[in-house]
Amino acid sequence: MAAEETSLIGVGTRQIVQIVTPLVDRPFRARQVAHWVIHRNATSFDDMTDLPKELRRALDTQFSLTEPRVVDLAVSQDESRKYLYELGDGSTIEAVAMAEAGHHTLCLSSQTGCAVGCTFCVTGVLGAGRNLSPGEIVGQYRTMLRDLGGEAARVNIVFMGMGEPLLNTRNLMAALEVLYETVSPRRITVSTSGLLPGIRLLGELERRPKLAVSLNAPTQELREQIMPISRQYPLDQLMACLRAFPLERGRRITFEYVLIRGLNDGVPHADQLSRLLRGIPSKINLIPLNEDPTHLTGLRRPDDATIGSFAERLRDCNLTVTVRWSKGSDVGAACGQLKGLHQRRSTASDHCRPAATPSRR
Ligand code: SF4
Repeated sequence: MAAEETSLIGVGTRQIVQIVTPLVDRPFRARQVAHWVIHRNATSFDDMTDLPKELRRALDTQFSLTEPRVVDLAVSQDESRKYLYELGDGSTIEAVAMAEAGHHTLCLSSQTGCAVGCTFCVTGVLGAGRNLSPGEIVGQYRTMLRDLGGEAARVNIVFMGMGEPLLNTRNLMAALEVLYETVSPRRITVSTSGLLPGIRLLGELERRPKLAVSLNAPTQELREQIMPISRQYPLDQLMACLRAFPLERGRRITFEYVLIRGLNDGVPHADQLSRLLRGIPSKINLIPLNEDPTHLTGLRRPDDATIGSFAERLRDCNLTVTVRWSKGSDVGAACGQLKGLHQRRSTASDHCRPAATPSRR
C-alpha cells in the first residue's frame, strides 16, 4: 500500500493533476484521474475504467485513496445516521448525516478531541485531540456521500462535529477548497466557539463558508461559566469582531444557543440575547441540551414549555429562531457521545445533533 503522504484524498484537482502528471502519457489522463477522485468519489484506481490498465496499476503502486474507516454506524428512527470512524493512527472521530426534508446535512469533525472545554459538550469533557488532516476531513464527506447513495448537490455541510475548526485553520482551509469543487460555499457552514483570529481569517477568504457561532450565553459572566474560552476571547470583543465580519448579500450569522435548565434558559436571558444581537443579521438556533449523565453530570435539558417561551420571546423581538428538536438522540447524536459510548464499552461537540429505537448497521 502507498504511504499516507501520497494519498490523493484531501487534495484538489489542480494538485492531483500535478502529482500524477509524471505517470501519464497524455495530459488529459491526469485530469481524468482528478475527475474520478473528486467528482466520481472513486475508492480504488481499478474503478477508473476509462484509464489504461497499466496506468491504473502504476497509480496504485504510487498513490493511495485512503479514507477514515467506518467502524460503527448507528441509524436513528428519524433516519439520521451517525458514523464512528477509525483513523490511521487508531484514534476515533464521529460524523453525523442529519436527515432533513429532501437533503442531508453532514456534520463533520475537524479534530479528534477538543481543548476548548465547553461544559455542555461531551467532546470537551473527553479532552484535547489532534488536528485532522485535509484528507481525514474530506474523507468523512466522501464516505457519507457514498453511504447515502448521494449527489453532492443534495447535501449541506456543517463543521460542528468534534473539535474547534478554527484551531485547525490550515487543514480546514485546504479541505474547504476541495469541498468547494462539489459543494457550493453557500452550503457549507463553519461553527466556532468564538476564536477571534480564526474568524478574522475566515473573513479574509475570497470564497467564504457561512459562519456559525456557538454563543450559549448573553453575558460575559455567564458565558465564562459555560464556555471557559470566553476568558481568552471576551464577549464584547467577539461581538465587535462579528459586527465587522464581511457578510455576502443575503447571508446571516447563525448563533447556536444550547439551552441548559436553570442556567441560561430564562426569559430575561432571551431579552439580554436579543439586545446583544441587535444590528447583526442573524439566525438563532436553539439546541435543547442533549443530556449525558455520564459525562455532563448535573446538566439538564429544560422542559418543552421553557424552551417554547424562550423561543417565543426572541421571536417577539423580531429575531429568526429555529429550535433543533433532538435529532438522533437515540443514537447518541450529540458529537462525542458515540465515541464516549465506545470508550465506556471498550476501555461529543454538542452543537450538532441529529433523534430515538436505534439500529446499528
Ligand atoms: S462545543 Fe465545540 S468548541 Fe466546545 S468543547 Fe465541544 S467541540 Fe470543542
